[in-house]
Amino acid sequence: MTAPSPAVLPIVLDELKAALGPAGWSQDPFTLAPHLTEWRGRWTGETPILLTPGSTEEVAKAVSICAANGVAIIPQGGNTGLVGGQIPYGEVLLSTRRLRAVRDVTPLDDAMTLEAGITLLEAQQHAAAADRFFPLSLAAEGTATIGGVISTNAGGTQVLRYGMMRDQVLGIEAVMPNGEIFNGLKRLRKDNTGYDLKQLLIGAEGTLGVVTAATLKLYPVMRSRAVAMVALETAAASVELLARARAETGGGVEAFELMKRLGAELVIKNIPDTRWPLDPIPEWSVLIEIASGTPGGAEAQLDALLEVAFEEGLITDAAIAQNDSQRAAFWRLREEHSAALKPEGGGWKHDVSVPISRIADYIDEATAAVERFHPGARVSVFGHVGDGNLHYDILPAVGEDIPAFIARWKEGSQVVHDVVARYDGSISAEHGLGRLKTDEVRKYKSPLEVETMAAIRRAIDPKRIMNPAVLF
Ligand SMILES: Cc1cc2nc3c(=O)[nH]c(=O)nc-3n(C[C@H](O)[C@H](O)[C@H](O)COP(=O)(O)OP(=O)(O)OC[C@H]3O[C@@H](n4cnc5c(N)ncnc54)[C@H](O)[C@@H]3O)c2cc1C
Repeated sequence: MTAPSPAVLPIVLDELKAALGPAGWSQDPFTLAPHLTEWRGRWTGETPILLTPGSTEEVAKAVSICAANGVAIIPQGGNTGLVGGQIPYGEVLLSTRRLRAVRDVTPLDDAMTLEAGITLLEAQQHAAAADRFFPLSLAAEGTATIGGVISTNAGGTQVLRYGMMRDQVLGIEAVMPNGEIFNGLKRLRKDNTGYDLKQLLIGAEGTLGVVTAATLKLYPVMRSRAVAMVALETAAASVELLARARAETGGGVEAFELMKRLGAELVIKNIPDTRWPLDPIPEWSVLIEIASGTPGGAEAQLDALLEVAFEEGLITDAAIAQNDSQRAAFWRLREEHSAALKPEGGGWKHDVSVPISRIADYIDEATAAVERFHPGARVSVFGHVGDGNLHYDILPAVGEDIPAFIARWKEGSQVVHDVVARYDGSISAEHGLGRLKTDEVRKYKSPLEVETMAAIRRAIDPKRIMNPAVLF
């Protein structure tokens, strides 16, 4: 557990209130409550004040006051982060929820500039209204904000074709830790003029400033989409199938989501109104989405792919979504995986990546190591094969004492992460480090990396007021 930040003096709170006006702050416990506990209920924090500035200038005023008084700040967007970096422990909490303007959408630049508090889903809708596509997509997109997905460099289901959030950002506006505004809202595709400050802010988890707006890339709308759920006997077959699918479609695979049987069974058991489209539920399922710029193209490519995959023995069964509602139903089965694990009493959750070609070996080795460490534990694996990113979660054996199981979480996670390290992988593929993994990652990063990151931070935030418990 992180040590609480020192108490903020009443005189500083008064200064913040005066600077932001009545709409810009709250100390009401009911207003604060949803901001203080994260999605899984793992961290519950406290704050002397919630700041809700309504403009970049107001963010700058608030940060300047905090900087002048050495008061620590936690920026918060939608509070959907999974590593606890958005939860304050005595720090001032600065929410971007009132930064909601669409500054511009310029289709000829394939770009749009949105303020940080706009949700990811709204960003997709603004792109669609301009007959463009914004690709980043994840299960929390109705709540996660542009500032949050930038600050965690979020991934999700479309990374295979379009890359992570880092790849979607053309420009950033941010309030730096001394209160100065960095106006980097350029729409340029090329700008080789030295170190790229916006890229430092992406994935910084709120440690280098408050992102207040961003200019994002837009893409052409695909004219056809096709989705299938396929059955495979092994995880190794999924890697072969992905390579085949990319070759057959000329790179048209938009999503390729692997799911082990246990997770599928828990979705059916714990999430109302769900049915697996393959009967029986196979040992491994893959949800494939193909998109094409030609009307009807995706359906034809998917049919051709499945035919070849059957012939080559890569898949044993397949169900093709016949309409939009079936497509949505298939996707729901994938997106509800995290929620489906919750009622099982908690688990040791991991967000790891390994080289794509080594996914199957990693799963075998990690599962054997977990079985040796905690015999009978159940392993749920789902994730993005094309990114080598697996959500590798360990659940207690049926009927096992849950608190005793949870008590072994740290040691158990180390078993999983040590195997990741042997595969030259990462212990945080897309969720970041936050409060959860900041200490642990030191074991897996070189001293050179840790010290260089710490030096950059010292240069930008010498008083360490921004999200002080997170990163180095
Ligand atoms: C059901 C579910 C599914 C998810 N699926 C995925 C997935 O597939 N892929 C994935 O990558 N993530 C996933 N996540 C994690 C989460 O959605 C992302 O981390 C998201 O990017 C966080 O956005 P947010 O606005 O909620 O940020 P918050 O949770 O509020 O904050 C996250 C971090 O960013 C910082 N921050 C927030 N806003 C700003 C800002 N404006 N300026 C500076 N720092 C800021 C915070 O201090 C904190 O460190 C999932 C979460 C849930 C609950």
